[in-house]
Amino acid sequence: MTSVMSKRKSSRPTRKTTHIFVSPRLKDQIRLGHPWIYRDAVERSPAGLLSGAWVRVQSANQQAVGLWDAHGPIAVRLFSQTALPDAAFIRTRVQAAWQRRAPLRQPEAASTAYRWVYGESDGLPGIVVDLYGDEEGERRWAVIKTYSASLARVQKWVVDALQDVIPLAGVIDRSGEDWRLLAGAPPAGEIIIRENGLRFAVDVLHGQKTGFFLDQRDNRATAGEWSPGKRVLNLFSYTGGFSVYVAKAGAAQVVSVDSAPAAIATARHNFQLNGLDPTAHEFVVADVFDLLEKYHGEGKRFDLIIVDPPSFARSKSQTPQALKAYRRLNALAMRCLAPGRMLAASSCTSQVSPDAFRAMLADAAADAKRQFIIQHDAGQPLDHPVAVNFPEGRYLKFMLGQVTPRR
Ligand code: SAH
Repeated sequence: MTSVMSKRKSSRPTRKTTHIFVSPRLKDQIRLGHPWIYRDAVERSPAGLLSGAWVRVQSANQQAVGLWDAHGPIAVRLFSQTALPDAAFIRTRVQAAWQRRAPLRQPEAASTAYRWVYGESDGLPGIVVDLYGDEEGERRWAVIKTYSASLARVQKWVVDALQDVIPLAGVIDRSGEDWRLLAGAPPAGEIIIRENGLRFAVDVLHGQKTGFFLDQRDNRATAGEWSPGKRVLNLFSYTGGFSVYVAKAGAAQVVSVDSAPAAIATARHNFQLNGLDPTAHEFVVADVFDLLEKYHGEGKRFDLIIVDPPSFARSKSQTPQALKAYRRLNALAMRCLAPGRMLAASSCTSQVSPDAFRAMLADAAADAKRQFIIQHDAGQPLDHPVAVNFPEGRYLKFMLGQVTPRR
């Protein structure tokens, strides 16, 4: 009885918040609902305030509520303009995110893995949750990644909310170096997921990010449409996502390249899982830049080259360097295409806008003495939505088109 009483008491909205005063310049961005307050905009905050404290931000006549972070460039992640979040508040956001993904649960979608919570766009700043269901869709695991220590304040509420929505075999945290179990049990080994009807082995405990790059689902399907009969080079293949799609769609030969041996081993395995003979294709552990130089020198040419590198920029200041690397990479790839063949250029760097990416491709084409004609200009699938007041959420670029000689 007493425990119920104290529980009630602690969830009262009278919990303490600290007032933070930020530059009046931020008034408009707060009115629009942008979820970040950079530290350099903070004018007054109590000394020694710990990460994970709820704060009420004041900018001129505008207010908002968020979590204080004592470290890093983002000082506050805003959750609400009025309410002080509690378990019920978080549950509502998690449920709304679940509803937003309803089209992916239509049987035609034939996918058992997708992003359930995409941070700021789903009103849960700094929190990503990917859902991995086995191919029968019977057992499902949620894999959570938080981008600030302050989010420990809400993590349990998120984990509880996920389990309120659907039964989960387990909830795994991939925020730190090592995985942590937050609920249920970890998968016994790899999870065989289904994506657009294809099968992929995913190691959610040790794989990159949360185990699989779910954001390229639609773009992988597009690449498949352009690949029958083609010699395809898939650069930065990871576990062969694009490779399996193009091979299944009837590519003549697929070469998958990644610097991570474990990723290449899984790529081979993923070919087998889809009834494809890995010995009919090539799997290369190599540095992409070196390999492209080598292929170019040898006169080795392809009909479709997919370029999906990791993010080369972690911050705004690294953007010029990243653009340089993308430019060199795409120019090299263009040189390795047979005349009139196809390039699929992608980038997951949020610091590079679609316009900047297109401008970089123009430079790369000029360097390679080619013309690049974009025929398909895409971004993220519906499980990576972009809230209008958070343009930073639009990070993925995928531009596919023909590369012709320039005369
Ligand atoms: N296209 C993949 C995701 C690519 S993620 C998919 O659809 O699943 C980026 C990959 O690039 C990672 O697997 C990483 O191991 C690899 N990588 C990073 N730098 C590399 C380099 N210089 N050469 C080759 N591979 C690299």
